[in-house]
Amino acid sequence: MNKETSNKSREIVDEGLIAGVRKLTPARIEKVINQVLKKETGARLEAYINTCVHCGLCSEACHYFLSHDRDPVYSPVGKVKQTIWEILKHKGKVSTGTILKAARIAYTECNLCKRCSMYCPFGIDIAYMISIMRRICHRLGVTPQYIQDTAHSHSATMNQMWVKDDEWIDSLQWQEDEARDEIPNLRIPLEKEGADVLYSVIGPEPKFRTQLIYQAAVIMNEAGVDWTMPATPGWDNSDMAMFTGDYELMGRLKRLHFETAMRLKVKRIVMGECGHAYRSVYDTGNRWLGWKDMPIPIIHAVQFYWELLNEGKLKVAKKFEEPVTFHDPCNIVRGMGLHEKAREVVKAFCKDFVEMYPNREHNYCCCAGGGVINCGPPFKMTRITGNRIKAEQLKATGVKVVIAPCHNCHGGLDDIIHHYGLGMELKFLGDIIYECMEKPNAV
Ligand code: SF4
Ligand code: SF4
Ligand code: SF4
Repeated sequence: MNKETSNKSREIVDEGLIAGVRKLTPARIEKVINQVLKKETGARLEAYINTCVHCGLCSEACHYFLSHDRDPVYSPVGKVKQTIWEILKHKGKVSTGTILKAARIAYTECNLCKRCSMYCPFGIDIAYMISIMRRICHRLGVTPQYIQDTAHSHSATMNQMWVKDDEWIDSLQWQEDEARDEIPNLRIPLEKEGADVLYSVIGPEPKFRTQLIYQAAVIMNEAGVDWTMPATPGWDNSDMAMFTGDYELMGRLKRLHFETAMRLKVKRIVMGECGHAYRSVYDTGNRWLGWKDMPIPIIHAVQFYWELLNEGKLKVAKKFEEPVTFHDPCNIVRGMGLHEKAREVVKAFCKDFVEMYPNREHNYCCCAGGGVINCGPPFKMTRITGNRIKAEQLKATGVKVVIAPCHNCHGGLDDIIHHYGLGMELKFLGDIIYECMEKPNAV
């Protein structure tokens, strides 16, 4: 991509950002910036700012930088320079134009994927600094329209997709009915007190990915798991508030999720295949709430599948024949180290596994994460042009099936696969397991 195209993609108009900056005054900008910096950052931000030697070694880590022909404005340190450093340099006395530019960069040109931290000799957490910029933008009311809508949905309904309480229960009953054609004794237990597992999903599942609820119910049933779903809000652990910088709302969401599990007296929570929702309980939301440990243990689906497999509860009926590759989602791999467990499950169910390179904690992000895909259609091409490197990485595997155990990764990879004409098919780990597992109760 040449510089002209690259810079053009940076001129996007977003109604939410524009409406937000129109209401700003210099006094308000300065006040909010200094409140956040003084009350919410402390030594961590200061240490990062004072430690960085501007060496640029983090640049080679970032897919935006690599995909834009090494344009320095897309390097991690370049993005920090244009945002939080600019603000610090001027002690909060910055123009509305600076805020608009900083918001666009912070929300749409960084996935908070933390790959760059591994390349910095000091381990500086660029994603943290970009998050502080987002926090300031949220407090100023300057957020992209689409992601703000999902945050509003969280606030009003406690789920990301404006799913009404009765729609949630209807979706579960519908999937139970469907699944009973295949497995007559199958139930999706609701409000079962004292179950071993509360299974939590994210808003898109009842809204437009109901087959995942069906498949999870089959896996639970056939593996003999004592499980339940809640009938009340608190079932959605996704968290766009974490990405807009609305930490107060993030805290409400995490608290309700755990309170729901505690009300049902379950032994632990198993989360579906979502990366950011898991991050919201091991990295961000839990810390904001000041929790050292979770009130109830919570694990990601990858770990759960791995346990079921190793305990002999999940059995392989046949191997998936086509060659597959595996995309390591940042939030469960770089963030939580689930890469080997994921591979064990993939290799158990698939005949021919092909690694993509780089892989594991070095994998490139899908460019959807960090809420970037939730910034909606205006920024679709920002994601696609910002991750040409991912298309090259996928293509080099030579295979046609990609497994990605993360909702956002599916959204991001899907756009890349289509735009770059890769002709690949995306699957969740649950898709493969459902297709290849033993189902002793099936008719
Ligand atoms: S997208 Fe990832 S690698 Fe790039 S600056 Fe953000 S956190 Fe770093
Ligand atoms: S690698 Fe680390 S020290 Fe070097 S520019 Fe990047 S953040 Fe700063
Ligand atoms: S969507 Fe997937 S790859 Fe992208 S940041 Fe999230 S976990 Fe990482």
